[in-house]
Amino acid sequence: MIADFKNEPYVDFSKPENRKKMEEAIAKRKSEAGKEYESVIGRERIRLDAKLKSYNPSHKDEVVGVFQKAGPDLADKAIKAADDAFASWKYTSADMRAEFAFKVADLMRKFRFDFDAAMVLEEGKNWLEADADTAEAIDFLEFYGREAIRYSKMNPVTPVPGEDNELRYIPLGVGVVISPWNFPNAIMTGMTSASWIFGNTVVLKPSSDAPLIAALYFELLQEVGLPPGVVNFVPGSGSTFGFELVKHPRCRFIAFTGSKEVGLKINEEAAKLAKGQKWIKRAILEMGGKDTIIVDENCDLDAAVDGVLASAFGFQGQKCSACSRVVLLESVHDEFIEKLIPKVEAVKVGDPVNPDNYMGPVINQAAEETTLRYIETAKKEGAKLLCGGEKAPGDGYFIKPTVFDNVKPDDTISQEEIFGPVLAVLTAKDFPEALKIANNTVYGLTGGVYSSSRANLERARREFHVGNLYFNRKCTGALVGGHPFGGFNMSGTDSKAGGQDYYLLFTQAKVISERIR
Ligand code: NAD
Repeated sequence: MIADFKNEPYVDFSKPENRKKMEEAIAKRKSEAGKEYESVIGRERIRLDAKLKSYNPSHKDEVVGVFQKAGPDLADKAIKAADDAFASWKYTSADMRAEFAFKVADLMRKFRFDFDAAMVLEEGKNWLEADADTAEAIDFLEFYGREAIRYSKMNPVTPVPGEDNELRYIPLGVGVVISPWNFPNAIMTGMTSASWIFGNTVVLKPSSDAPLIAALYFELLQEVGLPPGVVNFVPGSGSTFGFELVKHPRCRFIAFTGSKEVGLKINEEAAKLAKGQKWIKRAILEMGGKDTIIVDENCDLDAAVDGVLASAFGFQGQKCSACSRVVLLESVHDEFIEKLIPKVEAVKVGDPVNPDNYMGPVINQAAEETTLRYIETAKKEGAKLLCGGEKAPGDGYFIKPTVFDNVKPDDTISQEEIFGPVLAVLTAKDFPEALKIANNTVYGLTGGVYSSSRANLERARREFHVGNLYFNRKCTGALVGGHPFGGFNMSGTDSKAGGQDYYLLFTQAKVISERIR
């Protein structure tokens, strides 16, 4: 009997024993810095001349791990290995695949501090953010395992007299999983695990900024004895190797999470018919966001300040769900700003190895440059810098949490995804105008409203056009099961990861009708 799904609790780092375990895990991971990891295709462990080094963004020159950098020439081999494995994997039972998933989840619990420590060093996550990432990855394994079993028992057809009718869901084939670096465990584990738990086989190409976590996850798959070729672990450049995987005629679907620009490119390429291709490729694409919280009159302003603070600056604003715009009703503007700014200025920025640091670095040099460029653009366009706006000390990519006031709805920082610790403050004369501003981007991922007006909340329910809308709470931190996640418009295909419809994206329905006497 499998227990009902429950979200994985977070580690309580206020307990000395947990702090000690985390410190030990970080020290162990540091002692293994520079270790080389092989790629694995089918049964073959592969070393290449071309290497991909993963760096610690808190210390620019510190190598966290060395990986093989696949070029486009390896795409065919990787897809073929997955294709070969699919021939038998597709006939395995949902129960068996779920059992593998639950075993992997158990192992991830066992090595939880190692995963957390890896994200502190490879992505600059603070301890809590890293642990929430691992908890979400465990949730995906547990949730999708149960979903595979649930769907295997369904037969959603109306009885027809004289016939025995069956609708069963069968897997699609070889999936190409292309993951981002910002939820390096949760999203990578989620997309990859959904693929194989639902009966497909996979080529996993993790982000070049996050290959270590993917390698650790892959080690767990090997430890539980997942057959060779069901998941093939192959880091490599996205634009060459990743793109070649997408183009391959035996690629049946792509599960991608990343930027709008890359997602659209993949969508376009996936629509082209390759020589020998027999199907329309399915593209599951989750992309960027420009997420807004509206702060209404007569709301709990302290709660709104804390919610905006956490949503804007948690993990340095590098969440697709991050609040990058707050729209204040005129009457609360001054008080909100008065309360917010001291809190932003009190945010500690530095190497997250030290748990007192709430904000770590942005992921790499390009991210630092982009963020600083947006800050300059905002100034040029007439926004008023309230705090931050520059680098913070340290030899990593540290940027002070930054708030701009007087941002206009069409300004660059109100329209484009920055993906860094920059919050734009806009003002609206009334609630309808606030909603209009919130909806005026090409994205539609998350949004939030702090309000005590039932009428305004109901209006937002209808008119605020985002995939994940939150009332009187922060707009980040979606929970598997409770908050299926995915966005509208240029935020993607609204796949609702961690929800009960997700299974359908990775399978196809087959109906079998048998005449009975
Ligand atoms: P990215 O688009 O730069 O990279 C994502 C992945 O695509 C990486 O593995 C990369 O190597 C690969 N890639 C790059 N070019 C490619 C190509 N031409 N063909 C195939 N693969 C290619 O994104 P990122 O910087 O890793 O992640 C940040 C972005 O992800 C942000 O825009 C963020 O909003 C978005 N994101 C969205 C969600 C969501 O659920 N909607 C969740 C997390 C992150």
